[in-house]
Amino acid sequence: MAEKSKGQKLQEKLAYKKKNYYEVASAEEKKEIFAFAEDYKAFLDAAKTEREACAVSVEAAKKKGFTEYHFGDKLKAGDKKYFINRDKSVVVFRVGKKNLEEDGFRLIASHIDAPRIDIKQVPLYEEGGMCYLKTHYYGGIKKYQWTAIPLALHGAVVLKDGKKVEISVGEKKDDPVFYITDLLPHLGGEQMSGKATSIITGEQLNVVVGGLPYEDEDVSDKIKLSVLNILNKQYGMNEEDFLSAELSAVPAFPAKDVGFDRALIAAYGHDDRVCAYPALRAVLDMESEHTVLAMLVDKEEIGSEGTTGMQCKVYEDLMEEIAIALGANFRKVRFASKCLSSDVTAAYDPNFPSVYEKSNSAIVSYGTALCKFTGARGKSGSSDASAEFVGEVRAAFDKEGVIWQTAELGKVDAGGGGTVAKFIANMNIDTVDLGVPVISMHAPYEVVSKADVYSNYKAFLAFMK
Ligand code: MN
Ligand code: MN
Repeated sequence: MAEKSKGQKLQEKLAYKKKNYYEVASAEEKKEIFAFAEDYKAFLDAAKTEREACAVSVEAAKKKGFTEYHFGDKLKAGDKKYFINRDKSVVVFRVGKKNLEEDGFRLIASHIDAPRIDIKQVPLYEEGGMCYLKTHYYGGIKKYQWTAIPLALHGAVVLKDGKKVEISVGEKKDDPVFYITDLLPHLGGEQMSGKATSIITGEQLNVVVGGLPYEDEDVSDKIKLSVLNILNKQYGMNEEDFLSAELSAVPAFPAKDVGFDRALIAAYGHDDRVCAYPALRAVLDMESEHTVLAMLVDKEEIGSEGTTGMQCKVYEDLMEEIAIALGANFRKVRFASKCLSSDVTAAYDPNFPSVYEKSNSAIVSYGTALCKFTGARGKSGSSDASAEFVGEVRAAFDKEGVIWQTAELGKVDAGGGGTVAKFIANMNIDTVDLGVPVISMHAPYEVVSKADVYSNYKAFLAFMK
């Protein structure tokens, strides 16, 4: 190889160049990347809703010797605990031996809800030889993407007698699926000339759930009756029980590798299980001298509201209870704490270059992406991490050899988005966003790079070290 020129050497020393993780990973590390992806895909298939993600996470924690924590319980260094919030969010934590007032918490916060099609409270009707459920979508979706694909139904129904039944249909090989219709192109002339936001309206997102008439000459709505009959036999429910049900239609596709080389994964709900799963694994897998918490929260997609969203007092209460149990002043603890708000960002998509500013966009396989700020327009709605805190996080990543990049969600004027970061920063905890770049975010089938998933996991380990 020719000797490097003076300018080349200087450029190497002074200029910043981000790296493709696959290009720099050792053979051993590549194996780890692909092995971790298998575990992640299994989690995705088992956890399509926040309820399921919560249950699966608790099971994984139990297997690693974690036990349930309730407010008021005693705690000591070395304890491994999980706290369940209303079966829809969970905080998995380890108590470290460092002084909590001086060292604070190491928090990783991500969300386990994802955009989907929720079933209305009075949903069932029949028309045109089919039975349907009326829906109300959850989160920011392009409605037209949810038609003509296989859907599964997940959720919980609280029956008249107060008993709760869990429902999951459409995932197993022999399960039926559900379906939202779209217009054939032959008759779609007028539809296709409309705006994409209205070619499918909210009230057209009706899910087909049946087509077999009940055999009795004397009843009307025969198909609806036969569907009700099946629901009654299988779940003990009547039509009235939909009033207190929480059912969602989600894509029935399992997670799959993408590409001849299997470098990428397509799945429903990478946003934000691609951060929640590595966060969970980091806390389960590694002992730390710090007190570390993986917060897997609900309702991020609709503003982090309610009793299970990040804005709820319950998470602050939990941290305060931990501080009290360890005899620490909670104000001091918060001031000393550090948080990675872990949510996905938009990956640069070469099919749509006009909305990205490439040098500040996350590139697929270039590692998990740190976003100093989120928000829209003039950073509105963002907590904007300080240079000092970003510097600290950067040093921790570099020390552990994490391949990572920075990102902004699209061009300055192109749009924007927010995460849970500001709610945690508002508690007086230094917080910065870090997460996996996603292609086709919020689509029924999203794509990420296996290298970025593993980079995210490694970044969490480095942060907890
Ligand atoms: Mn998200
Ligand atoms: Mn989202």
